[in-house]
Amino acid sequence: MARLFDNRFAGPRTRAIHAGERPDPATGASSPNIVMSSTYVTDKPEGFSAYEMTEDSPFVYSRWANPTVRQLEEKVAALEGAEAAAAYGSGMGAAAAILFRELSAGDHLILSDVSYAGIAEFARDTLPRMGVEVSAVNLTRHDDIAAAMRPNTRLIFADTPCNPLMRLTDLEAVAKIAHDGGAKLAVDSTFASPVATNPLALGVDYVMHSLTKYIGGHGDAVGGVVCGGRDLIRGLVSEATVHYGGVLSPFNAWLISRGAATLPIRMRAHQETAMAVAEALEAHPAVERVLYPGLASHPQAELARRQMKNFSGMMTFRLKGGRAAGDTAAERMAKGLSIIHYAVSLGHHRTLVCWIPSDDMIQNSFRLTGQNAADYRDWAGDGVFRLSIGLEDADDLIRDLESVLG
Ligand SMILES: *Cc1c(COP(=O)(O)O)cnc(C)c1O
Repeated sequence: MARLFDNRFAGPRTRAIHAGERPDPATGASSPNIVMSSTYVTDKPEGFSAYEMTEDSPFVYSRWANPTVRQLEEKVAALEGAEAAAAYGSGMGAAAAILFRELSAGDHLILSDVSYAGIAEFARDTLPRMGVEVSAVNLTRHDDIAAAMRPNTRLIFADTPCNPLMRLTDLEAVAKIAHDGGAKLAVDSTFASPVATNPLALGVDYVMHSLTKYIGGHGDAVGGVVCGGRDLIRGLVSEATVHYGGVLSPFNAWLISRGAATLPIRMRAHQETAMAVAEALEAHPAVERVLYPGLASHPQAELARRQMKNFSGMMTFRLKGGRAAGDTAAERMAKGLSIIHYAVSLGHHRTLVCWIPSDDMIQNSFRLTGQNAADYRDWAGDGVFRLSIGLEDADDLIRDLESVLG
């Protein structure tokens, strides 16, 4: 019977398939079983405190640890090059776990001024109620980050590429600023996936992903994960997993593991197709600007090449004619696209598109003023279409988009 796979010397495709897995010792099943059991029979009495749990503890109760969820955690940790990972019921659950674990009343958080809307709203509305001070900073402006650092700054929370601008954060540079000031750096790496960027190698302390997106890859399971050093993840598990309780279901872990097995080859196809679509859009007369890290026209193309091994399938584009043109095209897309789904979310095998008007984001989610609002408009104009390129044929996607762009 094959042993538990040792991924230390394996490439990313092999890790994606084998890490965390072994044939079932009872049946020889090659494909992993789903363990749905909530409780476990132990051969001696076990403790009831999360603080007594170690990596070698037997399975006791599925909120603490579950074999199918653990298998996914080991797979994602192997893909990220992390010592450990902890899975949650959603990407937001993973973000909340990091933020609540790291921040206490009187602490200060620096957050990217543009980020996933749920995280932006959570940090702006919930954390201050718990006594946490929050500053929103454009993380491409390193002088602004340094100026925002305070003696009580505990955490910088970044995302790269950031939603929805496709603006990149230089993780190595921001990790240095954080560490020089005695803070940690967490990054939401959902848009990049572990195939494009391994932030831990650049000095980042926590990496989170919405598993719902590229890692699951098929739009049929919601989940989240945090990767990091063994001690940080152990602390996260004993507090956030066991006590906040937002754990991933074994069934979703199983679906996401199956998706994760093909992540490296999917990312390669996402990138190849996205490049073709980005070039076609850039040449289209109705299009004002395309933001895709793989294009030479991306304002941070050099950083993209340095920090991303794959440019992923995420891009935004805006149309000539401002808000009115965007609103009209969004209506046409929702009614007239034949392959592409007009829908939120991303990273699936199906191509998805949605319209993101700048006024709504600037006022409601990000509440940007002054320079930050001007920076947002500089990238997004009156609004962007966010495209998550799937795994269909590029020519079919281009034809579908051309049919609604006029
Ligand atoms: C979707 C997403 C999240 C939230 O993940 P859920 O699984 O929907 O909770 C966080 N960050 C980014 C960048 C996302 O795209």
